[in-house]
Amino acid sequence: MTYDPLKVAAQLERIVTKENTRKYYRFRADRWYGGIATADCVGCPLRCVFCWSDFPRDHPRKAGKFYTPEDVFNRLDSIARKRNLAQLRISGNEPTLGKEHLLKVLTLVEQSNYSFMLETSGVLIDEEYARSLAPFKNVHVRVSLKGTTPEEFSKLTGASPRTFKLQLDAIAHCLDAGVSAHPSAMLSFSSRENIQKLLDQLESVKPGLSRELEKEYVILYPNVIKRLKDAGIKPHTAYRPDGVPLELI
Ligand code: SF4
Repeated sequence: MTYDPLKVAAQLERIVTKENTRKYYRFRADRWYGGIATADCVGCPLRCVFCWSDFPRDHPRKAGKFYTPEDVFNRLDSIARKRNLAQLRISGNEPTLGKEHLLKVLTLVEQSNYSFMLETSGVLIDEEYARSLAPFKNVHVRVSLKGTTPEEFSKLTGASPRTFKLQLDAIAHCLDAGVSAHPSAMLSFSSRENIQKLLDQLESVKPGLSRELEKEYVILYPNVIKRLKDAGIKPHTAYRPDGVPLELI
């Protein structure tokens, strides 16, 4: 039985957002992108089998606390100043849940010199959402595709295969709205043939877009190893947390 991530998102928003606040479970500096101050939010409408942040995803009522946009920006700013970092992001689960909250965080970022990496599965970014991101010139959207085809997406996330298209549409909506964006994709489970299908799809979104595809591979945290084993799904390429190649960081 598959699920519709948009329906899950509507239910989740009632749990992880309250007025203009959103639940977060951690604030930290992280090694990705050459160093980035990171706020880990609670709640995601997908259920990826390779997810490393599964406790807040599966227990949104128990995990985290509510923070205002000002709290989030101030904490990120403080981490970035201490570590001399120029980039900020929201990670952990899905940052685009709670649009009003996110847009307020981005408004504060826009008044600073930081750049902001919006990492998202894209399933919630429709045309209107993309247009509301357009005014933020220091935001870059990284749409992380969960597999390469509708069938693979459904196998890896449990979501309806027809909703794979929401991810590709998100990239198109961002580019149409003039939002800086690129695609990445989890390729640990994909055949060469399916990767080629994805590259062809990206070319049909925008000529040349396939060359911008960023490759993602599973990182074998203990909870991820267990989930993959329970699901009987084996990656053909994966890395230990201390063994990620430098070019992927
Ligand atoms: S989209 Fe990200 S946070 Fe959500 S389940 Fe997948 S890996 Fe986890």
